[in-house]
Amino acid sequence: MTDFSSFTAPGIDALHPYVPGKPIEELERELGLSHTIKLASNENPLGPSPKGRDAAMEVLGDIHQYPDDSGFRLKKKLAARTGLQADRIVLGAGSSDVIDLVARTFLAPGSNAVFSRYSFAMYPIYTTAAGAQCRVAEALPPDHGEMPYGHDLEKMAAQVDENTRVVFIANPNNPTGTWLSKTALYGFLRELPAQVVVVLDEAYTEYVSEADFPNGVDWLDEFPNLMVTRTFSKIYGLAGLRVGYGMASRELIALVSRVRHPFNVSLPALAAAEAALDDRAFLDLSGDNNARGLAQLGSAFDAMGLAHIPSVGNFITVDMQQDAGQVYEELLAKGVIVRPVANYGLPRHLRITVGTADENQRVLQALEQVLAS
Ligand SMILES: *Cc1c(COP(=O)(O)O)cnc(C)c1O
Repeated sequence: MTDFSSFTAPGIDALHPYVPGKPIEELERELGLSHTIKLASNENPLGPSPKGRDAAMEVLGDIHQYPDDSGFRLKKKLAARTGLQADRIVLGAGSSDVIDLVARTFLAPGSNAVFSRYSFAMYPIYTTAAGAQCRVAEALPPDHGEMPYGHDLEKMAAQVDENTRVVFIANPNNPTGTWLSKTALYGFLRELPAQVVVVLDEAYTEYVSEADFPNGVDWLDEFPNLMVTRTFSKIYGLAGLRVGYGMASRELIALVSRVRHPFNVSLPALAAAEAALDDRAFLDLSGDNNARGLAQLGSAFDAMGLAHIPSVGNFITVDMQQDAGQVYEELLAKGVIVRPVANYGLPRHLRITVGTADENQRVLQALEQVLAS
């Protein structure tokens, strides 16, 4: 028998597939439960944007046709929103697709990418798949007063060497929920060698209201090496459709577009994204629900004596003060799916997505029972 693993492309050997949150259906099938809740994948607990959902349904009669490969209408709308020209935008099947485009364009055996410990799990996957090296910068320490486990930009800069082609930064970061200020991030961009591409991953930006929180788009003219990515998977509630985008200099967009799969964003996804951009009422509701939920969960964890990483995202990562795998399993048995983050290097933590007020109550109650037993 042929051992195909000896014939794979460089990097595939060391690759471990991404571990997604457990699907509700699977848990219900396995444990014979019903009424389970899933607060594991940072999905919008209020469902999809109604405008987005309706627009997707309206085009279902046309799905025998290929989608518009240029994504003309969605790009035009995004351009109008951001003040960019449409040729400075690339669309992806989720923003992870755009992140992968950057990796496949710039990374190869012999080069490396820099990112922080405890950052998005797709960065090492795409880097390794491209055959490149991961250079992981140590994060801020757990006892850091403001941003425990957050990105340490000095340590990240120190990891950059002559073979670095890409730096990945999530702001706010997943799975920590920590964030970088305008001043700090701008200083980092200024110091970085001009040929190093920076992916500024803004998947959760719409949830953040901090005054000193940066908008990467403001820096695109000054930094031709900057790629800002955003997604419709989080606050827009369209994770199942897979649509996101990247914004950068014309030159970067043209380069990464060379490896983009044709028709990478589906017809319903394009329609839904375009409509969801206008769904102000839904976005406001989602933002409000999240702010209330963060406060509800945060103060309950405080009352339970559970340390949690201060988050501005739509999730909170909590220290279980024990191996979190056991707690995760016991929560599953109670029909509550949260996210273990051992694969992110945080074996004692669980990441809990902000749900509706009722869902938050339910996860808190289940957690109290599990920890008391
Ligand atoms: C959820 C998430 C994304 C977006 O993923 P999609 O591919 O757009 O669904 C990107 N980056 C981070 C850090 C995320 O948590």
